[in-house]
Amino acid sequence: MPKSCIVQLPFPSSHDPDIHLSSYYDDYDRRFRALLPEYFIPSDGLWEMPLWVAHLTALLDTAGIDSVFRDLSRTPAEPDACSEPLLEATTPGDLVLMSPLAQNFRLALDVAKHLEHAGRRVVLGGNMAPLAPDGSVHAVHRGQLDATFVRRLVGLASGAGGGLEKPLLPGLVSERITWAPDYRHLGGYEGRVPLLRLNASHGCLYQCSFCGDAWSKQLTLVEKGALEQEVDELTARFPDTRLFYIGDKTFGQSREAVANLLDVFRDRPGYRFIVQTHVMQVKDWIVDAMRELGVVAVELGFESADSQMLKRLNKLSRGLDDYTTKIHKLSDAGLKVVLNMMGGLDEETEAAHGQTVDWMRENSSALWLFNLYNFVPYPLTPDFPRLRERIFNWDFADWREDVPVVYRPQHLSPEASWDLFQEKIAAAHDIIRTPVTVPTSSAQEK
Ligand code: SF4
Repeated sequence: MPKSCIVQLPFPSSHDPDIHLSSYYDDYDRRFRALLPEYFIPSDGLWEMPLWVAHLTALLDTAGIDSVFRDLSRTPAEPDACSEPLLEATTPGDLVLMSPLAQNFRLALDVAKHLEHAGRRVVLGGNMAPLAPDGSVHAVHRGQLDATFVRRLVGLASGAGGGLEKPLLPGLVSERITWAPDYRHLGGYEGRVPLLRLNASHGCLYQCSFCGDAWSKQLTLVEKGALEQEVDELTARFPDTRLFYIGDKTFGQSREAVANLLDVFRDRPGYRFIVQTHVMQVKDWIVDAMRELGVVAVELGFESADSQMLKRLNKLSRGLDDYTTKIHKLSDAGLKVVLNMMGGLDEETEAAHGQTVDWMRENSSALWLFNLYNFVPYPLTPDFPRLRERIFNWDFADWREDVPVVYRPQHLSPEASWDLFQEKIAAAHDIIRTPVTVPTSSAQEK
């Protein structure tokens, strides 16, 4: 039976970071660490363990396919430099599994060319994989990593190529995930992990048109035993890391997933959590569950204060007043609110942007931090087919969330859209900048 090689590719450094965004994130980091001092940013390599590696390792085990892992995150981002260790690690007929992001997608295709030429079978997964030209790799995987996917991999290992798309039936999936990710290939990350990522469910039932995760249309729960097994392994391997990021896209979308998390952590004191959710999920029982679990911060998507714009984005909402009430509800419950904000959206207008920035300033007392992204039209976003013809830059190195958009939005030029994003950065920076409150003697005399 051929074996498989799971590959973490490096990222080419193609741009200097935006100066305003960098300065914003310096203050962000200060504010974050004032609450969570144990958090650190690793000085080199990846900021986070590549969790998909642990998922894939476990799935390959279930299919009886041996796996090795090659972490090339510190290798020069060049096709020859990356291909060499992969050719050494494999023999003709073996599977090579990669999950590139936009910035290293071109590199993945170039490396695949070398490998395919040498008889390896390259399988590409991840959000960019559907853009791989026909025939450039052995197979493209689109969808959740699950047992069906691995059964198909076994088929591939014996010769066939093609797509690996999983049929999608929208809604809650009746089959639970019963296996736990296996971290044996990620032992090298021990001692340098600031935060652990954990999923009690995968996917999302909302379908926001701009979202790279909306393709799932499904929610798949992790069975409680598998969740417990994963937490046992994570806490044994990384005993010093006490901060968990719950990767569920929408905390509270499943009561069962929330109950499983509460059960698994009930007798494990001292952990703190960050969760993400949709504003419609902010209900009393969910806020209570967050507090019981030990959640310190809640991320909420906030694309615009303009409800009409949200409607066009297919983002469910009960309007701006409801949103305002919800963030204050979280903040009053002692939870820190982090807004995931997105600029560069197709529907954005100057007026909608103005409303958004005004709202941020008016509600700054309830807002802790902002994660700022500029929109990238990834191929799995529901809007991609509509936007495709307006994409003018196909250099994937520029498909980044911290640079101007690569397509022409409806109402703004790409330059004007970037200017508005810069205004959002400035507004967010004003809010999070730690105020200097040292009184001067002259001020005290007044
Ligand atoms: S933006 Fe969030 S709520 Fe909307 S589809 Fe994506 S993951 Fe779900």
